[in-house]
Amino acid sequence: MSRRGVDLRFNTELKEIISDENGRVKAVVASTGEELACQFVGLTPGVSPNIDFLKDTDLETEEGIVVNQFLETNQTDVYSIGDCAQFSKPLAGRKKIEQVWYTGRIMGETVAQTICGNKLAYKPGHWFNSAKFFDIEYQTYGCVNSMLQEGESNFYWEHKGGEMCMHFVFDKSSRKFLGLNTFGIRIRHEVMNRHLDSDATIEKVMEQLKDANFDPEFYRVYEDKIVAKFNKEQKTNISVKKRSWKRILGAG
Ligand SMILES: Cc1cc2nc3c(=O)[nH]c(=O)nc-3n(C[C@H](O)[C@H](O)[C@H](O)COP(=O)(O)OP(=O)(O)OC[C@H]3O[C@@H](n4cnc5c(N)ncnc54)[C@H](O)[C@@H]3O)c2cc1C
Repeated sequence: MSRRGVDLRFNTELKEIISDENGRVKAVVASTGEELACQFVGLTPGVSPNIDFLKDTDLETEEGIVVNQFLETNQTDVYSIGDCAQFSKPLAGRKKIEQVWYTGRIMGETVAQTICGNKLAYKPGHWFNSAKFFDIEYQTYGCVNSMLQEGESNFYWEHKGGEMCMHFVFDKSSRKFLGLNTFGIRIRHEVMNRHLDSDATIEKVMEQLKDANFDPEFYRVYEDKIVAKFNKEQKTNISVKKRSWKRILGAG
């Protein structure tokens, strides 16, 4: 963000917003005491469902609108999906409110099936998220905790420019691929999802890494370098397979 022109302050918080004589913001004061002149303040403290207008209705609400696994509320034929839905019993390892676009989309598809006569429970599949800061992509697939859990191992590659990296987590004994965080390199969702679905080993993920790359054409690619580092560290001898559309489309 700094390299893209954002003037950041680290290890500090907003202490005060100062207004001018017309009640409009003119400056903010940081907890360090630093005063910064400004004409606009944007606060992003997190997401909370905006459901106040439903508080006096018969709908059951807590932090969000309470739903069961079929996204049904406590009122017949009333469903809740997306950022405002709160699961009464969240699925294992998942949050009670899931505020990302792909889960919202799956919830929509699920309710559409239900109201068309095919009653479906919400099944979000493997955790996934993608975001973009300026031109830098960030994606996460499966389970990558901030600290390695017992029995887990990891492999980390970073480009020397410091704006691209990949962090793979796998099971130490079975070598099962558990998750990936990637920054600056865009990955094809279907390919990673299939690896997670099929309990692929980390070696298989490495071998087929070229299939997973979803950067636009003419971007530099780094799969050979990434796998070379993996081979060195893990004492393996994997050669990266050429990209195969048959495999990418799930037919190979
Ligand atoms: C800054 C930001 C960045 C994000 N980045 C990512 C990301 O990188 N990846 C990701 O997966 N997710 C991201 N999200 C989350 C993602 O955008 C949401 O999870 C998703 O949009 C939720 O969809 P939704 O349909 O539930 O709600 P929304 O998209 O919020 O749609 C709700 C709609 O209801 C309307 N509305 C509200 N009240 C009323 C009312 N009383 N009457 C009628 N209409 C009303 C609103 O105007 C809005 O159009 C981001 C969100 C924000 C705010």
